[in-house]
Amino acid sequence: MDSASTDIAANYRAVMEEIRVAAEKSGRDPQSVKLMAATKTQGVAQIRSVVDAGVRFLGENYVQEAQTKRKALGDIAEWHLIGHLQRNKAKAAVELFSVIQSLDNLGLARILDREGCKNERDIRVFVEVNLAGEESKTGVSRTDLIPLLREVAKFERLKVEGLMSIPPAAADPEESRRYFRELRMLRDTINDLSLENVRLEELSMGMTQDYRVAIEEGATIVRIGTALFGPRPAKI
Ligand SMILES: *Cc1c(COP(=O)(O)O)cnc(C)c1O
Repeated sequence: MDSASTDIAANYRAVMEEIRVAAEKSGRDPQSVKLMAATKTQGVAQIRSVVDAGVRFLGENYVQEAQTKRKALGDIAEWHLIGHLQRNKAKAAVELFSVIQSLDNLGLARILDREGCKNERDIRVFVEVNLAGEESKTGVSRTDLIPLLREVAKFERLKVEGLMSIPPAAADPEESRRYFRELRMLRDTINDLSLENVRLEELSMGMTQDYRVAIEEGATIVRIGTALFGPRPAKI
């Protein structure tokens, strides 16, 4: 093993230990938290190392970047899209990813559903929520979330399995706690509506800086880049 992959294996163990501590602190089963490696700008060797270390979920931000990596690596883990999806990339995304975590508008939902119908398979998605209403970020606003889900409920092949969010950047992870809590409460509220095709099991929230707090508030998927790989290279 070269030194880079040794580091990644050690980082993986450290993160898993933090996950265990945070889960137990809040009375949760550590097994109920999935560790997703956020792999944007990481090369194929790094991704292979993180999977060798034990990661089972990979999150990519860009369709094209994921295409290259997936071609080289195949089905070594479950690939999710965690970056914004443009409508003209929807077809490629459906072929590449097991789950699209960034659904945030009805037009895209319609295109994804149509792809599902064409291929006679269900399309698994999470809805990305822009909790603080930040102009610079994608994601559906809190007020548009339930109306969007009511429309999605009418589709045939789209299955909404979770919510995803990236709270505003904060110096102190405690500042993000209220957003994580809010996402959990939205999940529970929506599940109580019993909408067709909407069964929210997953809360994808928490990154290197704030995943401990996210787990305490109910995260089932944490998306970690820096704590696994070290500082991100600018590009591959
Ligand atoms: C980059 C990225 C992450 C991981 O960020 P780190 O701070 O490096 O852990 C998680 N989620 C999304 C959507 C990202 O783009």
